[in-house]
Amino acid sequence: MTLIIETPESMTKERNYILQTLLGEFLGLEWVHHPTSRQDIKITQSGNVAASISLPDVLFSTSENKWLDSASLPISSSPLWDTDDLGLDILLVKSVVPVIYGDQEPVSRNNGRNMYLPVDIFGSAFFMLTRYEELIVTDQDDHDRFPATASSAYQNNYLDRPIVDEYVEILWACISELWPDIIRKRRVPKKLISCDLDRPFDCSVATIKGVSRRLAKDIVRDKSPRQALDTILTSYHRWRHDYSSDEYLQAVDWIMDANEKVGNKVAFYFITKHSHHGYDGCYSMTQSVIRGLMRRIVNRGHEVGLHASYNSYRNLDQINCELGELKQALANESIAVDEIGSRQHYLRWSTAITPRYLDAAGVSYDSSLAYADRPGFRCGTCHSFRMYDLKSRKTLTLREKPLILMECSVLGEQYMGLGYSDDALQLMKSYRDVCEQFGGDFTLLWHNSHFESAKDREFYLQLIS
Ligand SMILES: [Zn+2]
Repeated sequence: MTLIIETPESMTKERNYILQTLLGEFLGLEWVHHPTSRQDIKITQSGNVAASISLPDVLFSTSENKWLDSASLPISSSPLWDTDDLGLDILLVKSVVPVIYGDQEPVSRNNGRNMYLPVDIFGSAFFMLTRYEELIVTDQDDHDRFPATASSAYQNNYLDRPIVDEYVEILWACISELWPDIIRKRRVPKKLISCDLDRPFDCSVATIKGVSRRLAKDIVRDKSPRQALDTILTSYHRWRHDYSSDEYLQAVDWIMDANEKVGNKVAFYFITKHSHHGYDGCYSMTQSVIRGLMRRIVNRGHEVGLHASYNSYRNLDQINCELGELKQALANESIAVDEIGSRQHYLRWSTAITPRYLDAAGVSYDSSLAYADRPGFRCGTCHSFRMYDLKSRKTLTLREKPLILMECSVLGEQYMGLGYSDDALQLMKSYRDVCEQFGGDFTLLWHNSHFESAKDREFYLQLIS
């Protein structure tokens, strides 16, 4: 049974991308697109055209000169639609949903055979998945990143909910009501635990300058002779190339132990080349300690990926070079991998450029798309999806596994600053629970260098189980 989607004739490539993502990939349905002279979108089923779902067509009806222009952005204050008016049982975070594109005074209609939804579900989902607004709104933080606070999702209080997944659930509730024989794809929730190896071992004890700074902190700030002694001992071990007492390195093994106990596979992303002296890692893939770490990760069944360096996000040559270095390191250890995924260091990202370059380099998936300053659903979904290049109007081979939560976004003073409070833990758990509710992937980033307190381990263990 095939769904027939009739739409206006404009933006066929974009429509096919989003129809395939929502109906084909997310729901696993057969569908066919019929561009027609109509103004709205109508969904019927082959062999049963008496029943229908119709919805407004807003984003893809944008005139060509306004496409990728601020005139095509949603209105600043999203109208709210109470979906209870449909009279259907729908999986949602809340029954009232924001309307990104759609009617200004949203009300549905349902006579049992014909339904009208007041949301442009396909245009709104396209807006979220492609990060359309980030190509238009030019706000940046100190690291040239689009901040959560500049997003429509944050400003309209829907960054905490997977709005695209919710729209899909609304659509599915209507489809299954009108055509009960249609079966959707079953999706199993997963925990995608990951660790960016910014500092696989403690780099601050490797130089005289670093040791002096650490000692000053131990003695002057922390007034701890014991800590100072530890610093001297760690530094002595490092000088002898002995990493056995390194806390960051030990944390990597602890991460693997903890996740193996609950059946999770962890992705560890390595910085393989440096493009910024101050911000990139202090290690090289040729160091025996790194080669040993890589072997240990793979031998224990976990994943090795690329942590693309600070300035790589706008530089294809740099990405190629870094990916080549990782492939060489894997080959040197006779490690065969089918595909290599990556995450951008500092989550630096240019919607116009980065996905195209990662795709061109042959990276299988990216997992950078969370905001550094707030956790949540930057792409509006907790499911992986194929990416779309807005400039060249092409569906890429590259997939996105959207990052949902980075530990420092919640704990760090520079971001939400909630510290190790009950509020912080409850917030973190709420993302995990929502992902599970929607059969999605809870993608968690917790750095091995962020296990300084017992609270880190306590929070971590609660989140990965
Ligand atoms: Zn990093």
